[in-house]
Amino acid sequence: MMSHGTLAELIFPTRCAGCGGYAGRLLCPNCTARLPYIRGPACLRCGKPTLYEVEECGQCRGRVRKLDLCRALALYEDPLRRAIHRMKYGGIWRLARPLGFMAATSMAPHLGGGAPCVTHVPMHPRRRRSRGYDHAELLARAVAEALGLPHRTLLVRTRHAPTQASSDLKARRENVKGAFRAVDGPRLPREVLLVDDVMTTGYTLSECATALKRAGGRSVAACVLARDVAEGGIGGKGSALFSVQSAARRCR
Ligand SMILES: [Zn+2]
Ligand SMILES: [Zn+2]
Repeated sequence: MMSHGTLAELIFPTRCAGCGGYAGRLLCPNCTARLPYIRGPACLRCGKPTLYEVEECGQCRGRVRKLDLCRALALYEDPLRRAIHRMKYGGIWRLARPLGFMAATSMAPHLGGGAPCVTHVPMHPRRRRSRGYDHAELLARAVAEALGLPHRTLLVRTRHAPTQASSDLKARRENVKGAFRAVDGPRLPREVLLVDDVMTTGYTLSECATALKRAGGRSVAACVLARDVAEGGIGGKGSALFSVQSAARRCR
């Protein structure tokens, strides 16, 4: 596939996945600079930007207890949202590597000297067959490569979730409940770094962490490309502004 790269570039010049411009790169320098990076303090548990570093924020309280830490590269907004969409549904699987490298950079300072095994939130095998690749696996492999850590497939998705994400929180939770189990075989690593593209409610990552811990995992951190603080459009209380204000109130 890669060996045809030069010829393909002549016939179909590479468009930027963020803005659609003919950049000759998968993500142009302008879009790279404009990504809504999360650089300041964030909730340790869910990666959401907060006014001060907090262990659990108002949005994720009680939802993602099994997750010990989560870092997101940026907010789930354009041009990152568009790029992720192209990576997942537009066949631009090659984007996973540069995006994974960027996510690894945001994760590196939080590893605290540990050497976790990197794994991904897997697709259902049926969906993977129809898409031809698992973008989260490609992301995880890139994260592992950038951090010099091993990658292993540690989870299996046992239930085929509907494509349409429900707008109801309870339905979303039910949708992923018990949907993952640890792979059979050799003992699971004790420290795991779980990789996915977007964290919305956190239910999926939490279910994965639950399955890993049930199988002997001791700590599970998550590294995601994007944090959707609007929860995919659910309700109005998920906005970044709301959380910053409520965090400020709590800290007074
Ligand atoms: Zn661009
Ligand atoms: Zn949080």
